[in-house]
Amino acid sequence: MVEIGGKIPPIIDVDTFNNVQSHFTKRPPGAYTAKETYFLSGLVHCGECGAIMSGSKVTSRGNKYSYYRCDKQQRNNSCGNARIKNEDIEAVVFDYIKQQFSDENIPLLTESINRAIAESSKEATQELTVFQNQKKELTKKIYNLVSAIDETGLNPLIKEKLAAFRKLKIKLSKCHSYTFTAI
Ligand SMILES: [Zn+2]
Repeated sequence: MVEIGGKIPPIIDVDTFNNVQSHFTKRPPGAYTAKETYFLSGLVHCGECGAIMSGSKVTSRGNKYSYYRCDKQQRNNSCGNARIKNEDIEAVVFDYIKQQFSDENIPLLTESINRAIAESSKEATQELTVFQNQKKELTKKIYNLVSAIDETGLNPLIKEKLAAFRKLKIKLSKCHSYTFTAI
């Protein structure tokens, strides 16, 4: 039985405990231990044929190992490129990513992100200006029509036009608010 600090009641017997422990200790490095996550699946390409490489498990002498393999090799063995242990390739890629986020690179990355944001804001602002001008133009037309009604009375043609302009103005206002949301 196993007790922790003598206060917690025994929960598993020694044999079970040792059995579970041996599963963790006897596996050689790189052996498959749990459900594997292949972070680079589909992101790395084979240097020989250019096909995508995906994660796969290989059993060797009773141990399971995780590799990245060329899809062509996996499918029909038409590529002779060697498989790569997932921990080897992931270590290289993660190191590279870490370097990209180094103290010197962070200001550069921030600058390029800010530039991209500014660019998209500029486009949104330009779009907004177009909407605002169209709305101003429509307001003017509606005002002219209302003045015409004042002078000549409301005829069906003017009434129809006024309704169409008002509808368009509402539509534009909606686009306008979408643009604001986008910013
Ligand atoms: Zn290949």
